[in-house]
Amino acid sequence: MYFDNAATTKPFEELRERFLELIYGDYFNPSSLYTAAKNVRDAINASREGLAGLLGCQKDEVYFTSCATEANNLALKGAVKRPKCRIVISAAEHASVSAVAADLKNRGAELITIPVDSGGRADVDAVIKTVNENTALVSVIHTNNETGALNDINYIAARVKSKNPQVIFHSDGVQAFLKASPPSDDVDIYTVSSHKICGPKGAGALKISKRVNLNPLILGGGQERGMRSGTENSAAAALFYDTAELYKHKYDSKKILEMQNFVIETLKDSEGIKFYASEPKITGIVSLSVSGINAETLLHMLEKDGIYIGLGSACAANKSINPVLLAMGRSKEEIFGSIRISFGLYNNLDETKILCQKILEYTDKIRRRKIAQI
Ligand code: PLP
Repeated sequence: MYFDNAATTKPFEELRERFLELIYGDYFNPSSLYTAAKNVRDAINASREGLAGLLGCQKDEVYFTSCATEANNLALKGAVKRPKCRIVISAAEHASVSAVAADLKNRGAELITIPVDSGGRADVDAVIKTVNENTALVSVIHTNNETGALNDINYIAARVKSKNPQVIFHSDGVQAFLKASPPSDDVDIYTVSSHKICGPKGAGALKISKRVNLNPLILGGGQERGMRSGTENSAAAALFYDTAELYKHKYDSKKILEMQNFVIETLKDSEGIKFYASEPKITGIVSLSVSGINAETLLHMLEKDGIYIGLGSACAANKSINPVLLAMGRSKEEIFGSIRISFGLYNNLDETKILCQKILEYTDKIRRRKIAQI
């Protein structure tokens, strides 16, 4: 019973054969000159063209990377060319944006971090206020990976551009891709990741508008039109578009909403349980905290029953206090007891019922154990 789909997703069985064929049959280097290699190159480019359609851009505006973390690094580091410029991010960015922004600050950039509400949505007026002639980059996540909250990035980008058209607007669309509207033309750079939509790990992609001239991060053989050197992960890149189409076809938001609502309805009146579901949000991510318990203990108890949930973001799991949840105004105690339930294509209502029943049973058990220890 896998309820950690915001961390990663189970790859499509339907694409298993094609994936193996791409790895073991079509293993040729896409840069080589013989026909077999050209076929691999063509498969990557067909995927690029398909993704461009989904991202609302042209095919030569799509670039493959090894993951979204690399894509976000490229977006920020590649866009910031003047060391003393101003960069603006929201306080609820994924670490692959916030850590890069902090690094740019250490190198001399002026970093402004925009406050967010309890779901992680950025204060739009505060973003616009930061835009001046020295602002080089604004990065606002599309859908928050902890809560599912949506930023209206197309609106924010339009307002940023109307104040200073030179500003590069980036958005991390990893959790939003295929669930929220695609980026508009005002969004210069947009990041997506294959393993979040039932594709293989090892492929990220970026829309990079032709207007924008980024400095590449990885130099070498000049693959990806010089933007990302290194032999392509041809299987994952070539499958990216097929994966996205299949995901779009199979994603049943009504079914996911039903499971999400079941969790909220069943747990909302339980002692000490607090939900963080501010609207608008995508369906599929439920963020809650259970006061007085260590969420990690709960996670491991559920694990023994074959139930997997998340503890905030998997990417932030190594840090003792999740800075994004702090920025959303949660207390340390609430963060300590925070779990993230994220639904995917393969969940069903029966297992959701078991999940809720087990959460109630184990939180009660943990609390009683604590009382017995006092
Ligand atoms: N951005 C967001 C919003 C994410 O949720 C994640 C992964 O959790 C990433 C970026 C990083 O993606 P990847 O695992 O492809 O590096």
